[in-house]
Amino acid sequence: MISVKEALKIVGENAFIPNVSEVPLLESLGKILAEDITADRDFPPFNRVAMDGIAIAQKAETFQIETTQYAGEAQKILQNPENCMEVMTGAVLPLGCTTVIRYEDIEIEEVEGVKIAKVSVPLEEIKEGQNVHQQGADRQAGEILLHNGLPISPAEIAVMASVGKSAVRVEMPPRVAVISTGDELVDITVSPLPYQIRMSNSYMLSAALAKIGINANLFHLTDDKDLLFKKLQEILINHDIILLSGGVSAGKKDFVPEILTSLGVQKLFHKVAQKPGKPFWFGKTDEGKTVFALPGNPVSTFLCFCKYFLKPKPEQVVLDKDVFFKPDLTYFVPVKTYFESGKLMAKPFEGSGSADFANLTDCDGFIELPAENQIFKAGETFDFVRFR
Ligand code: AMP
Ligand code: MG
Repeated sequence: MISVKEALKIVGENAFIPNVSEVPLLESLGKILAEDITADRDFPPFNRVAMDGIAIAQKAETFQIETTQYAGEAQKILQNPENCMEVMTGAVLPLGCTTVIRYEDIEIEEVEGVKIAKVSVPLEEIKEGQNVHQQGADRQAGEILLHNGLPISPAEIAVMASVGKSAVRVEMPPRVAVISTGDELVDITVSPLPYQIRMSNSYMLSAALAKIGINANLFHLTDDKDLLFKKLQEILINHDIILLSGGVSAGKKDFVPEILTSLGVQKLFHKVAQKPGKPFWFGKTDEGKTVFALPGNPVSTFLCFCKYFLKPKPEQVVLDKDVFFKPDLTYFVPVKTYFESGKLMAKPFEGSGSADFANLTDCDGFIELPAENQIFKAGETFDFVRFR
């Protein structure tokens, strides 16, 4: 039996390596960028007018308006530095001009057919270069704007659009199979007989996968060796990651580990020193596909999925009540979190153990109580595996 830390390390080192593919820009949303994105021009690419108003070459009280520079027009030239040009936001700053005075700070009059702009604010308030977004001020041509490995959100889509990336290389989501096993399980559309239960694990796992953008395929297999062999063989061909639940413990019909081995899936570990989820089995195929065979008790299934598959970012919580746990196992207790005096507190809900998944609806995650200790005191800080 290995420790939680060792198990996490093995899972991390053997993670499925996603395929990379080029997709249309909008399809990259929510995926991981698999190339560097470079600025093809400066940001902004020209001295950009940032306010509607007039562009000037030097300070004065009044200016004769020569013409207008609109957005989308090629750069015009100010003929006389004592004059000004009307300019619109998004236009190129006319050649010869340095500064923009917004309409709010001028008055325009027409005298004998000539348009005159009068500055209505004290001249010292006008700063050289104001209201001009200088070429290259944000980013320079050739600079890396987005690095390989970045998750793509609407902001990254905007940057890629601006450099003309109509197609982009991304990591493709893995093809995931979620498989429940067990003769006692029936689908949720079926009325269970008194000795049967409705399957919930596969729905829980596919919902958790949907939250991270993965559409899993669902299967159910009974505890039949031949069927398990045949179906798992087929499923392994068409999927990259397999998530099984049930059939990995010490029961007489827990066939999953031996069937996986006979299918050529290499066992990387079986059993982790933790509660719940001790019988967790993890393996890998020669092609690098990974198999997470999780224990069937729903709290075990969920904990193993959250801790080992999702690998949440490190977080800590303060235990709000003493907990005593004797076995030499890492103890993951469902907790409800809340803030008190600026600290994230955790109220344990031990419930009736790994089958009590109704308990999870009151909770936000699991507090991780280390295997070395037996007494965990209120006020002590521990790692937290958040699921809500
Ligand atoms: P197993 O790991 O196969 O020994 O199953 C342990 C317990 O979890 C048994 O009580 C099963 O009925 C239950 N269980 C297994 N798979 C599921 C599932 N997909 N949904 C709900 N409960 C399950
Ligand atoms: Mg079973």
